[in-house]
Amino acid sequence: MIKEDCGVVGISLQEDSPLIFDYLYYALYTLQHRGQESAGIAINNKEGIFIQKGMGLVSEVFNKKRESIKGDVGIGHVRYSTSGESNLENCQPSLIEKEDELFILAHNGNIVNYKIIKKELESKGHIINSSSDSEIIGHLFIERLKETHDITGAVARLMEELKGAYSVVMLYKNKIVAFRDPLGIRPLCIGELYPKGLIIASESVAIDTLNGRLIRDIKPGEVVILEFGNIIEEKHLVKLEHNSHCMFEYVYFARPDSVIDGRSVYEVRMAIGKLLAQKAKINADFVSPMPDSGVTFAIGYAISSGLPYIESLIKNRYVGRTFIIPNQEERELMVKIKLNPIRNNIDGKRIVLVDDSIVRGTTSKRVVNILRKAGAKEVHLCIGCPPLISPCYFGVDFTTNDELVASQKNIAEISKIIGADSITYASIDDIVKAINIERDDLCISCLTGIYHI
Ligand code: SF4
Repeated sequence: MIKEDCGVVGISLQEDSPLIFDYLYYALYTLQHRGQESAGIAINNKEGIFIQKGMGLVSEVFNKKRESIKGDVGIGHVRYSTSGESNLENCQPSLIEKEDELFILAHNGNIVNYKIIKKELESKGHIINSSSDSEIIGHLFIERLKETHDITGAVARLMEELKGAYSVVMLYKNKIVAFRDPLGIRPLCIGELYPKGLIIASESVAIDTLNGRLIRDIKPGEVVILEFGNIIEEKHLVKLEHNSHCMFEYVYFARPDSVIDGRSVYEVRMAIGKLLAQKAKINADFVSPMPDSGVTFAIGYAISSGLPYIESLIKNRYVGRTFIIPNQEERELMVKIKLNPIRNNIDGKRIVLVDDSIVRGTTSKRVVNILRKAGAKEVHLCIGCPPLISPCYFGVDFTTNDELVASQKNIAEISKIIGADSITYASIDDIVKAINIERDDLCISCLTGIYHI
């Protein structure tokens, strides 16, 4: 399973309100799919800064308790580490302090030239406490703010220097400063909260949850500053010829009910499912999703192929996160507890099983095995993401070729390893068509091995 990178949220209200904590809490709850390792909230009010963060899910870190804290401005973060260790020190939001400057930062993405910048900052007396690349964004901001004496000017300098993916929300005095890298690799959008407030979030679904209204995406290379529930500045600082929106947000990361850069994730997945059906043309009894990741693709496949959509596996949604399972017997039991076949639907049937992606191939192998043991006559895999052949350096946790089965093996070999009768992958052209963004404006580096940065 690929772990998502991070989710960020920033909220600015017209006046101090006890709702600020609930807003941040529920927004993070909604963004939980983007990171399950740690969570944190920071709120600024007249008494000072409140920060609460810890390892675990949002519901665990905050212990379901609503802090009775008032404030007009706050940010939040859920994390899965793609750089830096997994420990409390690296939890965000991060408090950044030097001399008389102090602010709090939450970041989604990965800075590629992190080590070079860290060295430069340390030579200027900055003390970098964590091994996360996010902290250097904050220290670099302080350094550039000292030179420019202007928030927007400092962010513009940052954008010239930072290489990689970064969607950032900062809590600075009583402002939210939000910006997105000039390639727009990770998503970031802004919405309206009622009666009077603004929210910046990784995905629009966080805005929906709070009964808000999506206004628009933050543009690649844009900075937006909020204060007392209003936009006080918005500036498109760097405009490149092409963007590099992560295609994997559409096929895997984002929730299907989100809209990213103007495209409904649900519609993209449906369209990929339809294209898969047109290409695969498999003689089967029914089409079935891998729960839950393959559902939308499978619906698209069923509509286009005319095959019935029937579930063959039921996922136990109450199984906790990862934990160490000491022996093989228990591991097998755990797989069954997580995913149980519906034997009556499966026995003697030819099944098209649709999923979003194959990374190492281990999950697919287990699932095909479950279906075969339940009597499936044929299992044909259809996969929404083209073969992943190259690592991602922009915030996704497959960082070496060894972790990607398609980087070493061809489709026939992968089918054999997994034990499937056939595998049909969506092509790069299919996903570009389904996402409906120019190919040159999408990051597809993990599919091609060619990198923009
Ligand atoms: S390399 Fe792949 S996963 Fe990483 S940003 Fe690009 S498209 Fe997304």
